[in-house]
Amino acid sequence: MLVDSHCHVYAYRLDELEKFKDILIIGVAEDYESSIKNLEISRNYLNIYPFVGVHPWNLKNIEGQEVEKTLDLACRSKGIGEVGLDKRYGKKSLEEQISVFKIFCEAASEKNLPMNVHALDTWRECLNIVTSYNVKNVLFHWYTGPLNLLEDIASQGYYISINPAIIIQAKHRAILEKAEVDILLTESDGPYMYRGMDLNPLKIRDLLRTMAAMKEISLEDLEKVIEENFKRFIR
Ligand SMILES: [Zn+2]
Repeated sequence: MLVDSHCHVYAYRLDELEKFKDILIIGVAEDYESSIKNLEISRNYLNIYPFVGVHPWNLKNIEGQEVEKTLDLACRSKGIGEVGLDKRYGKKSLEEQISVFKIFCEAASEKNLPMNVHALDTWRECLNIVTSYNVKNVLFHWYTGPLNLLEDIASQGYYISINPAIIIQAKHRAILEKAEVDILLTESDGPYMYRGMDLNPLKIRDLLRTMAAMKEISLEDLEKVIEENFKRFIR
């Protein structure tokens, strides 16, 4: 089966979600409200694995107990995300972002939940933090970090996801060339417009084809490997 390991499912209408039923999808959230929506959607869509979290871009907008309230939902979820750090677009200081990220890491570690991490320009920092909290399963989504970090990610048993934007993003292609297939997942990050590309789960089939050609393995074999990686990640 096809895998979309990072998709903002709460942002889709139900008739759109119907079209994604043949794809295993991790629904990531960006705040309390979208976390609730993910949980509700997943009741009717068995292919959707709901995650809960507060996106680093949203820390500016949240108030009061939003992080705690979101974490209270974790026991009903399949994992935590989208959480992490962002030096480029984050509106709060890195220190403030780190203190929230650590709260999520602690919870993921305690409850033994996988994490879907946004780590733009903070790849090393995020890796160090999740490792220090002993989080078992971590996905660095849309990985465009340093090539030399891939080995450390692999040695921790962590994953990276590849986005359909690979056809226009040279940096992302270099990552796929270097990475071993057993740390790879596929993702759409939909719904999202990236440089004119409409990213959504239906792009995964073509993405897989591109990846199989680049890694010089058959489409069937790659699909199987990624599905196995997904099952290990989500448990
Ligand atoms: Zn995202």
